[in-house]
Amino acid sequence: MDKNILEVKNLNVGFYIEDNFYPAINDINLSFEEGKIHAIAGESGCGKSVFINTILNLLPKNAKITKGEILFKGNDLLKLNQRQIRKIRGREISLIPQDPFMSLNPLYTIENQLLEVVKNKDKDTKNTIRQALNEVRIKNIENVLVSYPHELSGGMKQRVIIAMSLIANSKLILADEPTTALDVSVSNSILNLLLDLKDKGKTIILITHDLSIVSNYCDTVKIMYLGDIVESAIVEQLFKEPFHPYTKALLGALPTKKGKKLENIKGQISPITQKITGCKFHPRCNFVMDICKNKKPDYYKNCYRDVLCHLYRKN
Ligand code: SF4
Repeated sequence: MDKNILEVKNLNVGFYIEDNFYPAINDINLSFEEGKIHAIAGESGCGKSVFINTILNLLPKNAKITKGEILFKGNDLLKLNQRQIRKIRGREISLIPQDPFMSLNPLYTIENQLLEVVKNKDKDTKNTIRQALNEVRIKNIENVLVSYPHELSGGMKQRVIIAMSLIANSKLILADEPTTALDVSVSNSILNLLLDLKDKGKTIILITHDLSIVSNYCDTVKIMYLGDIVESAIVEQLFKEPFHPYTKALLGALPTKKGKKLENIKGQISPITQKITGCKFHPRCNFVMDICKNKKPDYYKNCYRDVLCHLYRKN
């Protein structure tokens, strides 16, 4: 039977801005099977990073989790205090951030920072560190170990962060747009490292706005729009037959063959402060109906996917 490493139940998160409360994550329910790469995809501003930061208890002070559970190996992360979550963060659950420089301390050498992650230091510690750097295909290991973060390229810094998750033996790795700041060839090599992590039995939740990455590297995908999961599916099925109009629009904007005109998604994602009644995607939807403007859709579920759209409602 499939085993889920992470389960999210009825999660609701919002932000206080000038004394008003604005929802950012709307009652989402998700499960993440062990040993797979799961994508959460959508445009910037759709709530993907808020979700990741909620898992790690890294939300800003004006955020509030109003309801829900995040069960990691059966324990609710939202019930842990700061000391307890610190024991999990960077150890059982690792983060590969968009900007690796933010996760590395500029004042310490790479070796010192890797040593920090080793739980029980012993005579093999130096070997453990070198082995992890070797696994992330760093060639000049001795030079890298004595370097400070600013002396390394962006791709090399991401490799070091991935090595940290190997040393910590993290079971779950959250990758928040990990290749955004990198050029294409370096991006591909970092994404290939995520496949290596999956081969080692790790589970990865990959945040991305790039559906070509989803298609090439991920097993399942959840499409997010303004805090709602609008479609969840196995990757091949979603690309073969997208159901939700937002998913269709994202795929239409994806370069596929030479000479094909790319479609634009109508309008722009609304700011969190704008209240939208009914389906949140209705101002941009090519299939909008009267009901969409006033009534939030329910999920249409079959064994292959969940879709939040009135087009699939059962009459
Ligand atoms: Fe479009 Fe209506 Fe479906 Fe929303 S519910 S995506 S507006 S068809």
